[in-house]
Parts: sequence; structure tokens; C-alpha cells
Amino acid sequence: MTKDQIFEFFRRLAEDNPSPQTELEFGNCYQLLVAVALSAQATDVGVNKATRALFARVQTPQQMLDLGEEGLKEHIKTIGLFNSKAKNVMELSRILVEQYGGEVPDNREALVTLPGVGRKTANVVLNCWFGQETFAVDTHIFRVGNRTGLAKGKTPEQVEAKLEKRVPAPFRVGAHHWLILHGRYVCKARTPECWRCKVADLCSFRKKVLEKPKGR
Ligand code: SF4
Repeated sequence: MTKDQIFEFFRRLAEDNPSPQTELEFGNCYQLLVAVALSAQATDVGVNKATRALFARVQTPQQMLDLGEEGLKEHIKTIGLFNSKAKNVMELSRILVEQYGGEVPDNREALVTLPGVGRKTANVVLNCWFGQETFAVDTHIFRVGNRTGLAKGKTPEQVEAKLEKRVPAPFRVGAHHWLILHGRYVCKARTPECWRCKVADLCSFRKKVLEKPKGR
């Protein structure tokens, strides 16, 4: 894609949704961090179902420590890998209390030292709470980046590096959301809905599905 095409690509994605938000539910930065840590290999809908009651009770890392690992497991047992996620959330809560005064640090270097927090989780928190220009490459962004030609790469890190380079200034904070939403609802994994895609003319995917399959 050319520079102008990339600008137009984001302009169109932004048009209908000028202030995109994550679909995870949270009330503060700590809850966002926990929700993102729980969302690995799980859907946002599934995480929200589990965290509604949890977050009504737990708003701070200290309150999580007071709840305890078994109490946390009771809340999140419907989420995949809940045993190891519970362990990580307890440990990261302990570190936040002991080393950061109960606050979530606003830089990637510190975030990725927390148990269960990788580069992607850190990027989501930095983007969604701190408003930083980060690109958390999940399965949707990886697919959309590669299919469209916007940011081709064999690994999430390569796609992230391309996005860093190519996303134009006005769209850098929202890009992460627009690409996820586009991948989740239009440029779907199995059958991309190219017949209703507003950026189809800019996309370089060779196997576009331009006619709606019967029965859909
Ligand atoms: S045209 Fe198809 S493959 Fe390209 S971005 Fe749109 S939905 Fe995805």
C-alpha cells in the first residue's frame, strides 16, 4: 500500500467509529491490566462475564491480595488456563503493591517484568489507558496486516514494527482498535466479508470474497 492508500484506509475505518474503545470492561487501569492478562486465548465476552462480579469487589491490587488465589479462581474458572492466570494475577498484584505503591507503571519496560504480562498485554494497557501510540498485535491485527498488505510480517513483532513505521499520525492511537474491530467483524479469519468491506479497493488480498456466500 502507498502512503496515501494507508491514510485513506484508516480514514475510512475511523469514519464510523471516531473514538474506538476496547470491548473489555474495566473501571480503572489495574482492572484493565487484569482483564487483558485474563484475555489470552479467551474472548472479551467470556472475560467480561467473569470479571463483572470480580471487579465489583476488587478495584485495587491490595483487594486482590485480600481476596486470595482461591477466591480469584472461583471468579475466573470459566476462562481458559484459569489456574496459571490466577497465579500470575496474584503475583503481579503483590509486585504492584510492594514495588509500585499499588499503581500500574506507565512504561513497557516495567510492565513486561510483571508475571503473565508480555509485550502485547503491555501495549494494550499503554494504548487503552495511557493513550500511548502502541500497536498490540493480536491474531486479528496479524491477519489484517498481512492480508491487506498494510503490515506484512511472519511474526507479531515484524507486523508491529511495520505498523510503527507506517501508521499516519492522526490514527496512531486508535489504529490498534480499528484493526482489531475490522478483523473481528469484517475481515474474519475463515471467510473475510470483502463484499461489505469499506477498504476492499485498497486491500491487496488475492482471495477476496466479493460475493456473499449463500445462506449467510
Ligand atoms: S477486502 Fe477482504 S481481505 Fe481485504 S481487508 Fe476487506 S475483508 Fe479483509
